[in-house]
Amino acid sequence: MKVILAGYNIDATIIDRAKAGEDVSALPLTPETVSVAYARISRDPSPVTELRQKSIDDVEAARRSARAIVFEMNHQSVAEHATFNFDILDITRLCVEHLEWHRLCSYTEKSQRYQELFGDYYIPKELEGEGKELFVKAMEDQNKMYAKAYPILLDHFKAKYPHMTEKKRDLRMIEGYAKEDARYAVGLATKAQLGFSANARNLEYLIRSLRANPLDEVRNLGDEFFRLAGAVAPSLILLTDPIEYEKEFGRKLDESHFQKTRPEAIWRVDGLLDCCARVRADFPSSGDVKLVDWTRDADRATIQAILHSHSLAPAETCQTVAGELIESGKAKEFVRDFLTHANPWEAATREFEAADFTFEVVLSAACYGQMKRHRMSTQLIQEYDTLLGYTFPPSVIEVGLEDEFRGNYERTSEAYLELANIHREAAQYVLTNGHRRRMIIKANARELYHISRLREDAHAQWDIRNVSADMLALAREKAPLTLMLAWGKDKFSEKKNELFNQP
Ligand SMILES: Cc1cc2nc3c(=O)[nH]c(=O)nc-3n(C[C@H](O)[C@H](O)[C@H](O)COP(=O)(O)OP(=O)(O)OC[C@H]3O[C@@H](n4cnc5c(N)ncnc54)[C@H](O)[C@@H]3O)c2cc1C
Repeated sequence: MKVILAGYNIDATIIDRAKAGEDVSALPLTPETVSVAYARISRDPSPVTELRQKSIDDVEAARRSARAIVFEMNHQSVAEHATFNFDILDITRLCVEHLEWHRLCSYTEKSQRYQELFGDYYIPKELEGEGKELFVKAMEDQNKMYAKAYPILLDHFKAKYPHMTEKKRDLRMIEGYAKEDARYAVGLATKAQLGFSANARNLEYLIRSLRANPLDEVRNLGDEFFRLAGAVAPSLILLTDPIEYEKEFGRKLDESHFQKTRPEAIWRVDGLLDCCARVRADFPSSGDVKLVDWTRDADRATIQAILHSHSLAPAETCQTVAGELIESGKAKEFVRDFLTHANPWEAATREFEAADFTFEVVLSAACYGQMKRHRMSTQLIQEYDTLLGYTFPPSVIEVGLEDEFRGNYERTSEAYLELANIHREAAQYVLTNGHRRRMIIKANARELYHISRLREDAHAQWDIRNVSADMLALAREKAPLTLMLAWGKDKFSEKKNELFNQP
């Protein structure tokens, strides 16, 4: 893995001086001066432009202030004014999962849909000894499966969509279909690259958490962020340093810092496992999605929120009026009017945050890789579970490769179970994009609008399109008015016309 500090913000007056030909190498080329100047706004009446200059003139004093304000006074949000960009090369898909677990950051990643894979994988340090042979064999077999499937799937899509074989752009699309389906064969040790941006507050927290991870690769990533960002902004990336941490809190910075729960305690809950066999599913479900909780009376809650933010009436009145609108049959017209200017590019308004939905989804690693990017939701995951079966791309079945894919999945599961005896967490590197896990996603209707627009859309990958269509179908049943325009971008105009042409 290679991590490169690609950028960070420095005071624009320094940039202007450099552009004017001045040698600025002795000036503080760090985002700390901006953060500290903003932090001083709270108590110092000087204009902020002067505060910025003061920080530039005495960067050591600025660093002392940053430390005092951010850590001693706990005014951590000022560290958000410092931003860093990183290039990350040769990182595994599994390590990307650990990185992207952190929601308040920005990521753009190599797509296995748009780029062909050439068998680049990482051998985890934890499995370098006795597990190495088995691991390498599994990786090689998976990559052979990919290499065999890709041209077959490409021919299949060319035959299926002959009108898309002439223009370069269309052909690239077809190649994308084949790549995105062939990649279900390969493992989470496959290498990726991404651009990553974070502010100093998030970066510091993320470094602490990465450095306490059981996987060597993930810990290395944390160390690299610390080395690179800590050198530029030592007063903001401070408490990721074990020595400073111990000085500040009087205890060691180690894995226990992140063990806020006791995983073993769960096994003491009587009957949890027995219960799995006894309880039959009674949550509403569609495909691999269950709706496990939702705001009762969700439409009333949305209408109540709309009334409240567009009037001077108190919440009780809005609740009563919302109920009356529903009983009188006028609620649909009311919500429709409110959505008159809705379009497929702009977010639904905040009032749609009044209705919440919680789903349990069984999804493939390929699908999880996409769903985890929806940051405005609460997501909880279980480990991948070989007992949950595998996801087969429909095209793989159509070309008759289902049995070979199943063999690849099953051999991988066997290798995983064996490798787990050596190192449970590192064994996950071997699992493929077709292995599955359970995930809880809690999202409000505003975020569901967004998920639906992007992921129910024809451009979306089929796996996440199916999952989001199931999520939306279940939510629409509970909140038909709130979600009346939550559709993929491609269907939006048609659905809106239908709605507005109704009497
Ligand atoms: C067809 C398609 C192809 C894609 N291809 C790729 C790809 O090749 N590589 C890749 O890396 N990703 C890809 N993505 C993922 C995409 O870039 C988004 O990460 C993902 O769809 C999540 O959506 P989102 O970022 O809009 O918002 P969410 O995280 O769902 O958040 C909802 C909204 O909140 C706001 N928001 C959330 N976080 C922030 C923030 N930090 N700053 C500002 N606003 C914020 C935005 O308005 C956002 O729209 C693809 C997505 C689609 C639909």
